Amino acid sequence: MKITFPHTGNMYIPIKVLLETIGIDYVMPPLCNIKTLECGSAHSPEFICMPFKIILGDFIHGIQNGADTVLFCGGLGQCRLGYYGDLQAEILKSIGHNVKFICIDLTFLTVREIVEKLKPLTEGKSPVKILRGIACAIWTVFRVDKLYRLASYTRCREVVKGCTDNTMKQFHHRVQNARGFKAIIKEINWAKWTLETIKTDKKAKPLKVAIVGELYVALEPYANLDIEKKLGNMGVEVHNKLSVSHWIMEHFIKRNLPVKSKDTSHEAGKEFMKTDDIGGHGLETIGNAVLCSRNRYDGIIHLYPFTCMPEIIAQCTFNEIQNKYGVPIMTLILDEMTGEAGYMTRVEAFIDMLERKRKAGTPDRILNLAWMFNWHGFVNYINRGGNMLLKRRNRKNGSKETAT
Ligand code: SF4
Repeated sequence: MKITFPHTGNMYIPIKVLLETIGIDYVMPPLCNIKTLECGSAHSPEFICMPFKIILGDFIHGIQNGADTVLFCGGLGQCRLGYYGDLQAEILKSIGHNVKFICIDLTFLTVREIVEKLKPLTEGKSPVKILRGIACAIWTVFRVDKLYRLASYTRCREVVKGCTDNTMKQFHHRVQNARGFKAIIKEINWAKWTLETIKTDKKAKPLKVAIVGELYVALEPYANLDIEKKLGNMGVEVHNKLSVSHWIMEHFIKRNLPVKSKDTSHEAGKEFMKTDDIGGHGLETIGNAVLCSRNRYDGIIHLYPFTCMPEIIAQCTFNEIQNKYGVPIMTLILDEMTGEAGYMTRVEAFIDMLERKRKAGTPDRILNLAWMFNWHGFVNYINRGGNMLLKRRNRKNGSKETAT
């Protein structure tokens, strides 16, 4: 039995650890590229969301490279993710790929669910080995996400541009050739050490921008046109609010603990959407936008695939959030037709606007004090004042330019 799985950003690293620790034979599809999307789109319904198409492309490439079993994580819920697994299995069958399809339900993920679903692949393997594989994979997820946060910190501050990107490129190359938990952790340590030795500008105060939205496009650099890297190279500190480690903490570790605790982003989202669920990561998107606004981020970028229902609902609340907190939010909708030039023009214009806003803005200390005492009215007043100043300055600059 040879298994294949879809890519989602850096998720292939913990999956590699899981399968190699347990001793399951696998085929990793090539990292997402134009061929993956084209192949998936050719066999998908036209208006299905982009993640479906890329994931299907991954499956087809994995099968063409010798896999006979597909491992996928789906779930129930109000959006299309609920029927991804069944539909993809049907499509694969209809194009002549009669493979075994294993779908792990993410809705109520437990260790038992993982062990049960992996049973056909783990026959004859000791339970200790399986549990060790799961534990090592979870540990790797947290280590990799920490490394990405470090990369995001150094990229926008590095003195010699490109050092962080080179290190991360080498890291991915090395990790793909490494086998087993120990070897992969060694590569993570190497990348961490290399990033720490990069010379950075300690006095730099980069713009702080958060990424919120749909999980797949926020995590997969091919789907979001490598926005984290591009923003970082523009001197922006990027905080991606949708890491896999956060998802595991909220949906796996906390749910399996005897003491229940609330998801902070869900709770924050309820301020603008009085419901428990709108499907996908919709409520988390609203909550993350609220939390980032409260934490005085300079701006928020909202990413979602074209036709994604939960994110369209979440987007409806952004006007109210912006009016209340005064932090700009820009939405970028992605699909296979997205052109890089137009996309980057919007990103650059947004960053330019944030820089001007910061220059014209109020000192952070006053605003932080206002938030501390919950003076919403005062903050709105200050923000309005800042915007008026900005407009006046732009008008002045405009008239000078016309006069010259
Ligand atoms: S969250 Fe959006 S993109 Fe993801 S499966 Fe649901 S509808 Fe599609």
